[in-house]
Amino acid sequence: MAVAHTRDQTVRMTEVVENTETEYDVVVIGAGPVGENVAERTRAAGLSTAVIESELIGGECSYWACMPSKALLRPVVARADARRVPGLSAAVEGPLDTDAVLAHRDTYASHWKDDGQAGWLEGIGAHIYRGVGRLTGTRQVSVTTREGTEHRLTARHAVAVCTGSRAVLPDLPGVPEARPWTSREATSAKEVPRRLIVVGGGVVGVEMATVWQALGAQVTMLIRGKGLLPAMEPFAGELVADALTEAGAVIRTGVSATAVRRAAPDGPVTVELDDGGQQEADEILFATGRAPRTDDLGLDTVGLRPGSWLDVDDSCRVRGSTWLYAVGDVNHRALLTHQGKYQARIAGAAITARAQGAPLLESDRWGAHAATADHAAVPQVVFTDPEAASVGLTLRAAEEAGHRVRAVDYDLASVAGSGLYAQDYRGRARMVVDLDREILLGVTFVGPGIGELLHSATIAVAGEVPIDRLWHAVPAYPTISEVWLRLLETYRG
Ligand SMILES: Cc1cc2nc3c(=O)[nH]c(=O)nc-3n(C[C@H](O)[C@H](O)[C@H](O)COP(=O)(O)OP(=O)(O)OC[C@H]3O[C@@H](n4cnc5c(N)ncnc54)[C@H](O)[C@@H]3O)c2cc1C
Repeated sequence: MAVAHTRDQTVRMTEVVENTETEYDVVVIGAGPVGENVAERTRAAGLSTAVIESELIGGECSYWACMPSKALLRPVVARADARRVPGLSAAVEGPLDTDAVLAHRDTYASHWKDDGQAGWLEGIGAHIYRGVGRLTGTRQVSVTTREGTEHRLTARHAVAVCTGSRAVLPDLPGVPEARPWTSREATSAKEVPRRLIVVGGGVVGVEMATVWQALGAQVTMLIRGKGLLPAMEPFAGELVADALTEAGAVIRTGVSATAVRRAAPDGPVTVELDDGGQQEADEILFATGRAPRTDDLGLDTVGLRPGSWLDVDDSCRVRGSTWLYAVGDVNHRALLTHQGKYQARIAGAAITARAQGAPLLESDRWGAHAATADHAAVPQVVFTDPEAASVGLTLRAAEEAGHRVRAVDYDLASVAGSGLYAQDYRGRARMVVDLDREILLGVTFVGPGIGELLHSATIAVAGEVPIDRLWHAVPAYPTISEVWLRLLETYRG
């Protein structure tokens, strides 16, 4: 396999480089968690690999998403859990130490510096280019550095677009002038606003509402639909809404923002609502969806539409192309770090196999070259109080997909382990059973401490473990996982 080419592979990221033309086996655009993992796989296979990054190596996940948000949520959820344990609750009655929580978050976001991850990427022998990567033709990529230098790269085998996604702001009057928060500001803010409006009730909305309410803001959520977490089973949103309301947040459903204004730069922000009312706060967060970072990527030079999500097959290769891959958020299959990294392992293996001329068995659904879990077994944990976790299909999605199914529900409060975990435990579990195959299509847990339980469900769903065999997976007593036994007993009647 080819390795070194025209330049020194150990070039430092701070070095000022001149215009160059260089050839690599693989060019990766975007060094978020997904781009890093594609490069890790292709380097491990001996393929020379260039990685282009326009901001920070580590991507959204490391600096403005998973890492800072979970660092902010952990003390909030731990305190809520501790407050439900007899003998401990009195010790945690006080407020959170805001400065310490924010400092913990800063540490987890590596103080928005990427030396560690850059060092790792260099350590695996990938060649880092700092700048904006753009496709310029078949297997051709340009890199424009901040200093204006341009590099022209050729990929012998594959270009992997791993440019991720960005927050979408609604097209409403006054939005840009009001300087709203997106997920970036919500995860990196240095001060707690006195009042915060959160527009949107998806995962980012509920997690950030949980954080800032617990840190002392008065949070008002404006939800267009009927409830929170609309992609999950309805009881997930209901239980999370109950807890947020008990924590002091105000949740207004069935209401949409129509305009936003902030009269003075340091003044409050006011939202006009479609019911004729208005709402005032010090900051407003729009948690209203994501868009692909493909608008300035040169997609038009390879016959694709700029600004579009990239449609890929199960090896993450763009449909109709022999050399272009799109991995992670940018392909819109599952906007989650762990799923993007899974796709990166698949794409890395597929690129390597094709570079070696090995035939890929597209029909091999258990193989290492097909991201089949994206269709059937995507796990997700919402790190709120209570946690909400799901894998696979909801009842509604399973019915809409035409499966003959039965939903089996169980009250988590009736499991021995939950009472020990927390007094007055509230939670619920559901498994969606495929009645024709007697396997699970989906599982949802909502309750304190259930996040770590999810992988058992992921194994059951991804492995298509027959119900008869699950019966022999005995949960330890007295843990919350005993809910498995109760769900199976309920199913068998
Ligand atoms: C608030 C929040 C919390 C989240 N929490 C979780 C969580 O707990 N667990 C979870 O699994 N997922 C979570 N996610 C989702 C997760 O952040 C994404 O799924 C993940 O970051 C996607 O990784 P990626 O590598 O595809 O894209 P990104 O992380 O977005 O990385 C893409 C990289 O490409 C670079 N780039 C873009 N265009 C170019 C270009 N033209 N040239 C060079 N570089 C370019 C960007 O600068 C960026 O560094 C969260 C998301 C948000 C917003």
